[in-house]
Amino acid sequence: MKFVSTRGQSPEIGFEDVLLSGPAPDGGLYVPQSWPKLDMLRLTGKKDLKYADLAATVLALYAGDPAWYEAIQHHARAAYAKFDDQRIAPLRELGPHRWLLELFHGPTLAFKDFALQVLAPLMNEALARRKTRALVLAATSGDTGAAAVAALAGQPNIDLIVLHPKGRISDIQRRQMTTSTASNVRNIAIEGTFDDAQALVKAVFADAEFAAKHKLAAINSINWIRIAAQAAYYLSTYLALRRPLTFSVPTGNFGDVFAGYVAKQMGTPIQKLIIATNANDILARALATGIYARKAVNATLSPAMDIQVASNFERLLFEAHGRDPAVLRDLMAQFAATGSMTIKPDALELMRKSFAADRVHEGETVATMKLVHRDSGILLDPHTAVGFTATRVAAPDEDVVTVATAHPAKFPEAVEMATGVKPALPERLRWILSAPERCDTLPNDPAALRHYIAAN
Ligand SMILES: *Cc1c(COP(=O)(O)O)cnc(C)c1O
Repeated sequence: MKFVSTRGQSPEIGFEDVLLSGPAPDGGLYVPQSWPKLDMLRLTGKKDLKYADLAATVLALYAGDPAWYEAIQHHARAAYAKFDDQRIAPLRELGPHRWLLELFHGPTLAFKDFALQVLAPLMNEALARRKTRALVLAATSGDTGAAAVAALAGQPNIDLIVLHPKGRISDIQRRQMTTSTASNVRNIAIEGTFDDAQALVKAVFADAEFAAKHKLAAINSINWIRIAAQAAYYLSTYLALRRPLTFSVPTGNFGDVFAGYVAKQMGTPIQKLIIATNANDILARALATGIYARKAVNATLSPAMDIQVASNFERLLFEAHGRDPAVLRDLMAQFAATGSMTIKPDALELMRKSFAADRVHEGETVATMKLVHRDSGILLDPHTAVGFTATRVAAPDEDVVTVATAHPAKFPEAVEMATGVKPALPERLRWILSAPERCDTLPNDPAALRHYIAAN
């Protein structure tokens, strides 16, 4: 399979390159040249296909090269063997025509484990085949950093440095990273905000000579393999319920919900994808009005969705505008210059065929957590509560699956505030509460970060 940039001015690349790449050199994002099709007849005929093998089937369609199939299957099996529920992505009924898809049974209790646990060993293998190494540099506001540490710890060809804003992430989020004993992992607390940490990473990457010398790499949510790996749970859900489904997806950077679109393009019967947003509602506004315009970011109870520029949305814009890179270049230039773009009417109509959207207020999120707990005894984390609230845009008799993106114990304060119950951390993670932490502190200064990288 070949991958092309949404902006059309970078050469096509293959699977191995896409494994190791961030954005395309022209600033666009890589997408597959065409949509590979799942053999739905064969898949629906199989009785007990393991989740890991399903995920490998999806990924192998993007590899194209049989030399990769065995490695993909091997790493997928090893990755999902670490989950604490053998069903990997179990479904739970939440009432008539309503289900929860629990994506929090991985090592760090959020759905990001689904992609990163597979991506990390595949990246490592691609580096080994090229006889080289990489230094992954990442800034995190919480969940991504923890998932990256868990996935990259001990990978022989990769080192990881994670920056988090000092004192601005939860204790559990910090401890999930700083208690790692892996010698290839370093944590840095930056004296600044998350935006400062992200700007530092960008500044260091922008120094091309430095980036090449230290073999800097990224694992952010625009990596195509992350999206492809996530498409597998939309497929597994269909195979479990065997009817066309609508999914409600708590959305920030548009990676997860776009993975649902990918599953649909590959042949999974999906009716609608509901983009559930919190107060940071750029996507809900875009779908309602056709104008994609950024505003200031609001802090909410669902911090992983406090995003006003959804990177992966560019991939849907590309699809909806007939995969025309010239149109994309215009739109993205308009957005970069003015903070706003106008989606073409035909494209908007196409998007509305596959997507609906809803914006959920904080009060509604809290009310949903409270109500679901009262009626069914289930604790929802605040992100999942946004998703479940947004199912109101579907018809009552429409079969809707809410994607549960995090375990309630990851956000204990919000859950306790809404329900009066403090969710307990699963047994297997309790050790992090008392384990020693390893973390360095740096000022908000690119020169200090460069010096640190060079010295380590
Ligand atoms: C990352 C994250 C999201 C947002 O997912 P996107 O792919 O960025 O849209 C939602 N909920 C949780 C708990 C997350 O960690």
